[in-house]
Amino acid sequence: MTTETALFTVIRADATPAPSLPAFGQFIGGKFVPSTSTSTVDIVNPATEEVLTQVPAGTAEDVDAAVAAAVAAKDAWAATTPRDRAAVLLKIADIIEANRELFETLEAANTGKPPAVAEDDISSAIDTFRFSAGAARAYSTLGADDYAENHTSVIHREPVGVVGVITPWNYPLLMAAWKIAPVLGAGNTLVLKPSEQTPLTTLKLAELIAGEVPAGVLNIVTGPGRVVGNRLSEHPDVDLVAITGSVGSGQKVAAAAAGSVKRVHLELGGKAPVVVFADADLEAAAKGVRSAGFWNGGQECGAACRVLVHESVADKFTELLVREISEITVGTPGAADAEIGSMISKAHYERVLAALDDIRKDGLTIAVGGRAIEGRGYFIEPTVVTNVPAQAPITSNEIFGPVVSVETFSTDEEAVTRANETIYGLAASVWTKDSARSLTVPRKLDFGTVWVNSHLVIATEMPWGGFKGSGYGRDLSSYALDDFSRTKHVMYNRG
Ligand code: NAD
Repeated sequence: MTTETALFTVIRADATPAPSLPAFGQFIGGKFVPSTSTSTVDIVNPATEEVLTQVPAGTAEDVDAAVAAAVAAKDAWAATTPRDRAAVLLKIADIIEANRELFETLEAANTGKPPAVAEDDISSAIDTFRFSAGAARAYSTLGADDYAENHTSVIHREPVGVVGVITPWNYPLLMAAWKIAPVLGAGNTLVLKPSEQTPLTTLKLAELIAGEVPAGVLNIVTGPGRVVGNRLSEHPDVDLVAITGSVGSGQKVAAAAAGSVKRVHLELGGKAPVVVFADADLEAAAKGVRSAGFWNGGQECGAACRVLVHESVADKFTELLVREISEITVGTPGAADAEIGSMISKAHYERVLAALDDIRKDGLTIAVGGRAIEGRGYFIEPTVVTNVPAQAPITSNEIFGPVVSVETFSTDEEAVTRANETIYGLAASVWTKDSARSLTVPRKLDFGTVWVNSHLVIATEMPWGGFKGSGYGRDLSSYALDDFSRTKHVMYNRG
């Protein structure tokens, strides 16, 4: 039986400060320059549907100019000491912090995020630059030693060279920071293409730090993925290309990169299972899904979006979860108490609504939510789907919206098998009070991050990245510095 309720309205607080828009142009060689194209992309506030501004719809020629600037700057930047580079990263962190409100307002206007999420994004971006500054200085290799008779080996850690970076729309500045900080910290120069939908905070960052970063070390080219992103991926002078995005875009990047045999770093989608055992603290698990399944409106690659709960406690857990989700407040970015905001764009809003239609057609139960919220802006009700059989499409397709599904299992083995039945391998969580389970189950789950009695808590010191279809490569932690470095062995004959 389908029971649909109309619990949700949007708290509208549109009288927020006007966002401080960035300069117009491509940021190449330390300044904004005109694109070779006169076409532009409209940048929309998805909570109000208003056009905020335009940015250039860049071209392959724009990318070539940016890559040339990054190539020209790379030897001098690679020759700087870790201390010099750390000083620049710390300065970038200080500049973001000094302009925190500006960045939060701009990010929220471009994405429809509520204040708590925008604040967390900017705080985490600052922390990423500060961590990478310290990590770049602390990073070392094996000491010189002899491994062949009369020969002394030394390992040097070198930058890779020029790194191409392609970022998504869900955390625009934060995803840029996750790449810029370790890429520059390891001594590379870079060309970054932000999502065509959300370039504003990345451009603003370039504008504000232009005087602190040597010209050509950091370049930003806006424009469509299939043009700008593709040229970055195939460009013979780009040594490594890193993308955070969907599986399909990652596959295209990897295919385009193959021609020049460049290294590829892929942070792709996810469909995180939340495995709730019969002995779990069910209230804590329901609250955990509320915060981790609906953070950023569920537009989160590690979102707690697929619950697998033991059949003996499924009814009780579902009741608790539905109660939690019914209490979620939806609002525009200026609404201080809003927990979730709008979907990022009209196209994405329509994709999520189409997924909800399919769920109805599949005969699943929508226990709460399930519809668009009327009025301006791309808002969708927080939704819980129950009565979900094994292998239903919703168990494996990334919806990337405020939709959580609930399935049941009967044995631990079944829980692990079913949790792993997805092409994705980014993140998962296990909820149990049994210490043996808490040790054994995470080891059997095929995901790059597994939380126990928690979900979506990120530590800058710890690696983030996936297995299987979620890609390879690690963000955050000193593992990111590894990914954006290369080792060179030099052997000295002392004979
Ligand atoms: P998307 O794949 O549509 O776009 C990501 C970026 O790739 C954009 O800048 C886009 O312009 C570019 N792109 C698109 N086609 C391209 C091509 N052919 N060549 C080069 N670049 C191309 O993803 P999105 O909709 O912006 O973001 C949502 C996706 O990102 C979700 O699947 C989500 O799970 C994933 N994501 C993953 C992580 C992670 O850490 N693993 C973090 C955030 C988002």
